[in-house]
Amino acid sequence: MSDLRGRLLADEPLAPFTWFRVGGPAQALFTPADEDDLAYFLARLPADVPVYTVGVGSNLIVRDGGIRGVVVRLSSKGFGEITAEGDVVRAGAAALDRRVAEAAAKAGIGGLEFYFGIPGSIGGALRMNAGANGHETKDVLVEAKGIGRDGQKLTFANADMKFVYRNSGVDPSIIFTSASFRGKLAAPDAIRAQMAAVQDHREASQPVREKTGGSTFKNPPGQSAWKLIDSAGCRGLRNGGAQVSEMHCNFLINSGNASADDIESLGEQVRARVKAHSGVDLQWEIKRIGVK
Ligand SMILES: Cc1cc2nc3c(=O)[nH]c(=O)nc-3n(C[C@H](O)[C@H](O)[C@H](O)COP(=O)(O)OP(=O)(O)OC[C@H]3O[C@@H](n4cnc5c(N)ncnc54)[C@H](O)[C@@H]3O)c2cc1C
Repeated sequence: MSDLRGRLLADEPLAPFTWFRVGGPAQALFTPADEDDLAYFLARLPADVPVYTVGVGSNLIVRDGGIRGVVVRLSSKGFGEITAEGDVVRAGAAALDRRVAEAAAKAGIGGLEFYFGIPGSIGGALRMNAGANGHETKDVLVEAKGIGRDGQKLTFANADMKFVYRNSGVDPSIIFTSASFRGKLAAPDAIRAQMAAVQDHREASQPVREKTGGSTFKNPPGQSAWKLIDSAGCRGLRNGGAQVSEMHCNFLINSGNASADDIESLGEQVRARVKAHSGVDLQWEIKRIGVK
């Protein structure tokens, strides 16, 4: 691939790129220079090489044995631009949700305040249908752009994203590269006040300064995962260096020197206890990738 402009590194640690700070290396880590570079790379990479995309790792456990194949990580240099025009905000997939909310507020575009408290990137928000405070990505997305495993550039209208609660039905091989969102024109001060309220609520109720992966399990229809976990007696439960947060028991934390296995098996213990206590099968929201 003589014309490749991005960075391709072998056996690169991934733990520093995740909020949990655990997990093994990527067999290869590719940081494309821009969209064309990513398309060039994917078109030439043999079809049998697995490819996995990571955002800023705020919803991710990378297992201790690492990831075979190529991990693609978009950098803010090539994929971080945010622009606003009228009531539409456009953002590269590496832009942080928080920055998108700030740019929208500056341009007097309301409706994207919920992104202010979500610590992921736009790529992760598109894949996870990220949401908070009664709003989610599905409510504001106009269209997303992405690249297929064969290097084809594709555009997805909101309906094509097949959004469901904390997921998108788009083929997992698609790497999102940018998106546009429509909000409602509003006074920047009112938008900022709402963003501050979002932030205050979060700081008071979630362990946002810990090594964590956000909500571990999806809320089952009509129920709260945290209440089920709490009533099964799991608040504060420990496994090696991993712990169920005392502050918000749907959050697992790396309390120091946890392995990925400590965290994942603690999650499985919680699932088993909840199943035994209330009969509910909790489903992981956190993505777990790689080999044990
Ligand atoms: C303290 C804390 C609070 C949180 N609060 C919330 C909340 O209120 N609401 C909420 O929805 N989430 C919340 N999360 C979870 C997380 O921030 C979101 O799921 C976020 O959207 C993940 O984005 P990311 O960039 O970190 O993705 P990652 O964790 O790196 O990856 C998550 C998934 O997205 C995929 N992905 C990432 N980038 C791309 C891309 N460019 N193209 C295709 N796929 C991609 C990955 O393959 C993976 O499947 C919280 C997390 C933490 C740590």
